[in-house]
Amino acid sequence: MKTIGLLGGMSWKSSLSYYRAINESVRKTLGDLRSAKIVMYSVDFEPLEKLQHKGDWEEIANILSEAAKNIEAAGADFLLICTNTMHKVSPEIEAAIQIPLLHIADATAEALVNEGIESVGLLGTAFTMEQEFYKGRLADKYGLRVLVPNADDREIVHKVIYQELCMGKIEADSKAEYLRIIDDLAAQGAAAVILGCTEIGMLVSQADTTVRLFDTTAIHAEKAVKYATA
Ligand code: GLU
Repeated sequence: MKTIGLLGGMSWKSSLSYYRAINESVRKTLGDLRSAKIVMYSVDFEPLEKLQHKGDWEEIANILSEAAKNIEAAGADFLLICTNTMHKVSPEIEAAIQIPLLHIADATAEALVNEGIESVGLLGTAFTMEQEFYKGRLADKYGLRVLVPNADDREIVHKVIYQELCMGKIEADSKAEYLRIIDDLAAQGAAAVILGCTEIGMLVSQADTTVRLFDTTAIHAEKAVKYATA
């Protein structure tokens, strides 16, 4: 079994989801007492979140590249960045290490393409919903048509992530808003919706809606286990 490198803490709430999902999947795949070999580097999120909102992605790239080098030095065979948003600096991180990076958008797009989905809604931080590093990859590399909520709804989705979910707050009103926005995306032609932020699975799940959901945390974790146990 390969050793999985996790660059986490963004937020630590979603790193918990990764840790649980990876270990549960290894148990299912390999047997009851089996567990994943993991090296995790968990950052202090607040300074990074401040840099995001200041637009200082260069400094973020430096900090996360150093963390990734530590993960590699500690013996990881490959790396997962446990957040969608921070994949904005994945090219810089990839350039700083020798081990492969399993990109969260690739894992998600492969799952969508396997299901024959062509049009998909995307929920995530404003960075993820509005910038090209994520949407562009889905469109250019996989031919997916990506729909995002309108500006007001993007603001709601973004605020709930940073002011609630990253702190572990689960609010019924926010869940209702997310479900309304998911329905809107489906009404606009999305055949499925990507939960493109690693905390959203704490708020909404497939049981809450008939719209097909693709939870990036679960998909990324599963891809890591397949790669580690292949
Ligand atoms: N975990 C989130 C994501 O998947 C947001 C936190 C961050 O900005 O890294 O995008």
